Amino acid sequence: MKLSCREASRLISAGMDRPLSAAEHIKLRMHLLLCGNCREFSHQLTTLRQAARKAGRGE
Ligand SMILES: [Zn+2]
Repeated sequence: MKLSCREASRLISAGMDRPLSAAEHIKLRMHLLLCGNCREFSHQLTTLRQAARKAGRGE
C-alpha cells in the first residue's frame, strides 16, 4: 500500500509526538525513499524540533 504525501506528512508529525508503529514506520520510510519533498519536510521538522528543545533548555 502506497502512502500519499498527505498521509506521510501526517505520520512525520505524529512521529514527533509518539513512537510510530512498525507498520507506520515502514510505510513512512518507503515513502521518504521515493519522495524528496517529504524527505525535506521531515528534515525541517526534525531540525525545528531540535531547535525548540534547545531553546527550552535555555541554550
Ligand atoms: Zn511525499
